Amino acid sequence: MPQKTEVELTVQRTEQLAPRLRRIVLGGPAFDEYLAHHLPCTDTYVKLMFAVGEDTVLRTYTVRWVDAAARELAIDFVTHGDEGLAGAWAQAARPGDTLRFRGPGGAYRPVPEADHQLFVGDESALPAIAASVAALQPGTAATAFIEIDGPGHQVELESPADLAVYWLHRDGAAPGTTTLLDDAVRAWPWPQGRVQAFVHGESALLKTVRPYLLDGRVDRKDISVSAYWRRGVTEEGFRAWKKEQQDAVMRPGA
Ligand SMILES: Cc1cc2nc3c(=O)[nH]c(=O)nc-3n(C[C@H](O)[C@H](O)[C@H](O)COP(=O)(O)OP(=O)(O)OC[C@H]3O[C@@H](n4cnc5c(N)ncnc54)[C@H](O)[C@@H]3O)c2cc1C
Repeated sequence: MPQKTEVELTVQRTEQLAPRLRRIVLGGPAFDEYLAHHLPCTDTYVKLMFAVGEDTVLRTYTVRWVDAAARELAIDFVTHGDEGLAGAWAQAARPGDTLRFRGPGGAYRPVPEADHQLFVGDESALPAIAASVAALQPGTAATAFIEIDGPGHQVELESPADLAVYWLHRDGAAPGTTTLLDDAVRAWPWPQGRVQAFVHGESALLKTVRPYLLDGRVDRKDISVSAYWRRGVTEEGFRAWKKEQQDAVMRPGA
């Protein structure tokens, strides 16, 4: 695997995909350097670098697509008010602004051997889900459960697969406070054969959907599951929480 890199790209244009989902298209002379390191994963992510006083603060984001011919890449940001760094930056970003990041990382890609592809996530996972369903083989059986604010927040998902998409509406509830995804996955008639699953979003998903899938339904090697953010804490707080969870797993009886 190539070494990671650190580049600074320039905002070429922005696009409002949904009321709280903003695409930032980036390019510039350092694009070729990034491309040399891009991974063949559909959940490829980078660490955005924001200067806060003397410190550099990192935020993790999926590379939604890379267009080698146009020498551009896109990142889709969930905007969630003025709180935080990355969402607020994306909300205000204009052509000519610059964004520095390091990476990439990534681990998931749909395998053609699976009989069914399952995707479960909220808006933060939508960029990776969109990139994944676009990369499926024609005719693959696939199902996506995606939690969003409401009907006006759906986006077009392009896929050559035989894809069923269920948009689950929070209808006024705050992100990260519902059991919509868990309820929908449990009510879903489980398909025959080998299922590969991609499950990401707010941290509560780990407590609900993950045990259900791992209870004999999906093999460990066929599941990509992790939290992408945690309600009420910044990414630093989220990383500290993840470490606590890992430490607890390492301490039997904890
Ligand atoms: C591998 C990976 C890939 C990711 N890809 C994407 C992506 O492509 N697009 C994307 O938008 N996010 C993505 N995320 C999630 C993103 O890193 C977090 O949402 C991050 O906390 C946002 O940073 P911030 O500076 O905007 O907010 P922070 O400063 O981290 O948090 C400020 C406040 O906002 C809340 N908050 C954070 N995220 C959300 C949210 N999505 N909805 C509502 N409230 C929120 C926090 O709980 C906190 O209260 C990804 C995360 C991982 C680990």
